[in-house]
Amino acid sequence: MNFLEERITRDGVVKEGGVLKVDSFLNHCMDIDLFEEMGREFKNRFADKEINKILTIEASGIGIACIAARYFGVPVVFAKKSQSINIDGDVYLAEVESFTHKRTNRVIVSKKFINEGDKVLIIDDFLANGCALKGLISIAEAAGASVEGIGIAVEKGFQPGGKIIRDMGYDLKSLAIVDGMNADTGEVIFREQGE
Ligand code: 5GP
Repeated sequence: MNFLEERITRDGVVKEGGVLKVDSFLNHCMDIDLFEEMGREFKNRFADKEINKILTIEASGIGIACIAARYFGVPVVFAKKSQSINIDGDVYLAEVESFTHKRTNRVIVSKKFINEGDKVLIIDDFLANGCALKGLISIAEAAGASVEGIGIAVEKGFQPGGKIIRDMGYDLKSLAIVDGMNADTGEVIFREQGE
């Protein structure tokens, strides 16, 4: 088991409906030493990639992306959730269906902050059905940027997002892939990744 799998085993809470709660160390209270380890590991796993920007989505991706950015020496841009219906033409926009909140969010990135020729690493905390990633990919590509890699902390391998994104040809790497969870026993089963 790697460091993140160990932490999930110790402190993650399995909820009904295929939800893994990690709010004591990842997305409410944030363990920055753990984030440092994740940042270092993302850098290792994408060592061969030339990256000039990290793209993530608010809110939970931001902390992880910021610490990872230290290791890559690049800025972080995050897609903002926007309520406004009067979006002007200065933004790239995507509709993202939220797995946890069961609603559709409109997310935007200003055209100032993502440009043609950018080499982007997308970072997020969770991958479930892949909606958040598809939104971020569409924004990057609308800007003429290339998605060099995608780094995820926790992929839920029993949901289709990982397969969809890999089948689209993206270099997706997840630090922990959860293949099964049991809400009664609290057991979490990880996929062997051989790293
Ligand atoms: P997707 O768009 O891939 O369906 O879901 C990704 C987003 O949903 C992530 O950004 C994350 O915030 C949230 N999410 C999905 N599944 C879980 C889960 O089991 N636990 C937590 N804490 N967040 C999740």
